[in-house]
Amino acid sequence: LFFSALSDCCSITTCPAAKSSGNLKWTDDQGKKLKCSAPIYIDYALSYIQEILSDERVFPTKAGSSFPSGFIFLIQKIFVMLFRTLAHLFSVHYQDAIAVEIHPQLNTLFTHFITFSHTFRLLEPSETAPIDELIAVLTSQLLAPPISGFSVPTVNVGNLLSASDHTAF
Ligand SMILES: [Zn+2]
Repeated sequence: LFFSALSDCCSITTCPAAKSSGNLKWTDDQGKKLKCSAPIYIDYALSYIQEILSDERVFPTKAGSSFPSGFIFLIQKIFVMLFRTLAHLFSVHYQDAIAVEIHPQLNTLFTHFITFSHTFRLLEPSETAPIDELIAVLTSQLLAPPISGFSVPTVNVGNLLSASDHTAF
């Protein structure tokens, strides 16, 4: 949904190399690493995740069925793909998100995603390291006691990202 809202801004022309927390390469079925543009990577990743989620052997829907061995590794793989997709949106398209006013929701989605990943150790620290500063800002806002009910973090991470070392992205 978020990606479709920003898909006009993320094309082969604007994002020829899939930058997120590092340059991305898609690993194909034969384990071969392919260089690809950001929209192609994201399209591959989201299609792959959709396929896995509807695979009865991975996510059984019948009572009494068990999860496959290696389930946690598949989940980690999915989380890496989601993280790289979100990191790309943050590092390259945050200003676009502000323009269409979806940045508060993007912040909240990312914060929940990171908190969940952290709790269940689904992402390697080395994967998230390039945007640790951003993660610290977003999670500290969410964990702060709400003043009047729940408030969505609206910090302008665009400034934070442009101030950080861009060679890392
Ligand atoms: Zn892009």
